[in-house]
Amino acid sequence: MANIEDEWQEDPEPVQIGHSSISRSTCQESSEVDSSDKSQNSQFPQSSNEEASSNQVAAANQASFSFLEINGQSTVSIDWEKVNAACDQADKERWAKLPPIVKNFYIEDPEVSSMSPNQVEQWRRANFDIHVQIRKTCDNKQLDLKPIPNPVLTFEQAFKNYPEILDAIYQQGLSKPSPIQSQAWPILLGGGDLIGISQTGTGKTLAFLLPALIHIEGQITPKQERQGPPVLILVPTRELAIQINKEVSKYKSKNIKSVCLYRGTHDEEDMQDVLRDVDIVIATPGRLRRLIVAGHLHAINFSYIVLDEADKLLNIDFGRDVRVSLFDQRPGHQTVMTSAAWSPYLWSQVKLYANDPIQINVGPLELAAVHTVTQQIMFVEDDDKMKILLKFITYMEPTDKVIVFCTTRASAAHVATEFAVIEIYCQLLYGDRDQDEREAALEEMLDGTATILIATDVASRGIHIQDLTHVINFDFPETIEDYVYRIGRTGRAGKTGTAITYFTKYDWEHAKDLIKILNEANQEVPQELEIMAQQYEEYVNSRRDNYFNRELELLAFLN
Ligand code: AMP
Repeated sequence: MANIEDEWQEDPEPVQIGHSSISRSTCQESSEVDSSDKSQNSQFPQSSNEEASSNQVAAANQASFSFLEINGQSTVSIDWEKVNAACDQADKERWAKLPPIVKNFYIEDPEVSSMSPNQVEQWRRANFDIHVQIRKTCDNKQLDLKPIPNPVLTFEQAFKNYPEILDAIYQQGLSKPSPIQSQAWPILLGGGDLIGISQTGTGKTLAFLLPALIHIEGQITPKQERQGPPVLILVPTRELAIQINKEVSKYKSKNIKSVCLYRGTHDEEDMQDVLRDVDIVIATPGRLRRLIVAGHLHAINFSYIVLDEADKLLNIDFGRDVRVSLFDQRPGHQTVMTSAAWSPYLWSQVKLYANDPIQINVGPLELAAVHTVTQQIMFVEDDDKMKILLKFITYMEPTDKVIVFCTTRASAAHVATEFAVIEIYCQLLYGDRDQDEREAALEEMLDGTATILIATDVASRGIHIQDLTHVINFDFPETIEDYVYRIGRTGRAGKTGTAITYFTKYDWEHAKDLIKILNEANQEVPQELEIMAQQYEEYVNSRRDNYFNRELELLAFLN
C-alpha cells in the first residue's frame, strides 16, 4: 500500500493539543444558528490550540493532585475524574467564545415537498436503489432526529437562491443531478452530517462541494475577522487534492479562495501568507497534521469538514494523522464522509467525526465495481504480460486512452522502459516522481498529448481523466478494494469503459474476491477463475490441517 500516498508516515513532534487521556466526542451541544439570523455580534475572541492546551493544563492543575506516602516513598495521586471534568469545563468555555455556525440554508421547493413517500421510494429504487438511513452516533441525546429530506430532482430545486452556482452548473453543461447529489444536497444544505457510500465517478465531489461554497458565504463572521479557513477537505492523495481544487475553481465565486496542501507545496515559512483569507483547505493527512502541530491551522476553526474517500483516509496508514489533526474539532461542525464501501471499521470511525449523520448508499452496501465497466480477465504467464500489453497498444484506436496499472514502482518503470525502447510515447505516474512531473503527466493525459499512462496506485483513486476508455491491470493489485478503484477510472460520468486484468497463477488468492465483484456487476466469470478460487481454498485448508496435525503431534509428544 506504500505507493498510495507518499506523505510523511513518521511520527512528528509530540502533539500538544488538549490532553491525551481525554476523549473528545462529536456529540456536543452545537452552536448552530439559522441562516436568517445573521445579526449577531461577529467580534469573537481568538481561539487556538495554544489556548486549548494552556486552558486545559491550567484546569488540570486546579484539579486534585495529592501526595501520598506508600511504604515510606512519596507518590503523586491524580484524580483523573476531576482532571477530565476540569478539562471538559475548559473546553466548554472555549467553545462558548466561538462564533455560531450557520448551517441551515435549505428551503424545500414546493415540488419536492409534494412528493409522496411512495414517489420518493420509487425514485430511490429507480436511481441505483438508493438506501437512506440515519446513523445514530450520540447515545446520550434524546431522539430529536431530523427527518430524512426528499431528494431534489433538478439543480434549480437545490440552488434556485444561488444563481452564481446555477450559472456555473449550466456552464459545465450538466443536465441533471446525479443520484448521490439529489439526495445529498437537501441534507447538507439543511446543515446535517452525511456519509455518502457511492461508487467512484458518481459525482460525489459536487455533492459535498456546492453546499460547502454556500456554507462559506453564509457565515456571519466577516472574512478578515475569521481565525482560519472554515472548510477542510481531506483526501488520501495529492492528485485527488489537485483534482478537487480544479473542481472548486469551476464553481466558486471570485471571493472564495482555496489552497491545496500536500508535501512539497509551499514552504512552512510562507504559510501565514499562503493561508491568508483562505476559505477552503484541501489537504492530505500528513501535511495537515504537520500544519496543525506547527500551529498554522487550528481544527477548532473548521466548521465544514469533508473526509473524502474516508475508507482510505482512516486506514492504518493515515488514520492517526487524521485523528491527531482533528482532535480539537469544534462541536456542531458539519461533517461529510465519502467512501466507495461501507464496513464495520468505517462505522467505528464515523462515530469519532460525525454527529447523527444520514447515510446514503447508492448501490449495494458491499464493495462493488461500477456497472458501466466491462471487466475482462486474461489468464497469462508472468513472462508473457509485456508481449500481450504491447499487442494491445499496437491495436489501440486513435480515440482510446488507457491507464496501465502496475503494483510496484519497479514494475511501472520496467513497462515504461520497454515502451521507450520501441518509441511508444507514454506518461508515468508514481509516488516518487516530482510533483511537477506528476502534474505534467496528468495534464498530458487530460489534454490528449499522451494517451497511455503507466501508473501505480497513486492514480487509482479519485483521478478523473476524461474519455479514459481502458484500464489495464498489468499487475493484479494488492487488495480487491484497489481493483475496484482502479477499474473505476474508466466508465465514469455516464460513459462506458473496459478493464482488462492480467491474472497469473500467483494471483490465485484474489480469485474468490474477484468472482464476487464480477458476479455483482453481472460480468462473465471465467471457469478458470472458479477453478483457481477452489484450488486456493483447498490449499489454505490443507495448510490449516497440516498445522493442526503438527500441533497435535507436538502435544502428543509433550504428553
Ligand atoms: P466525481 O465522482 O466527483 O469524481 O465526478 C466524476 C465526474 O462526473 C466529474 O468529471 C464531474 O464533473 C462529473 N459530474 C459531476 N456531477 C455530474 C452530473 N450531475 N452530471 C454529469 N456529470 C457530472
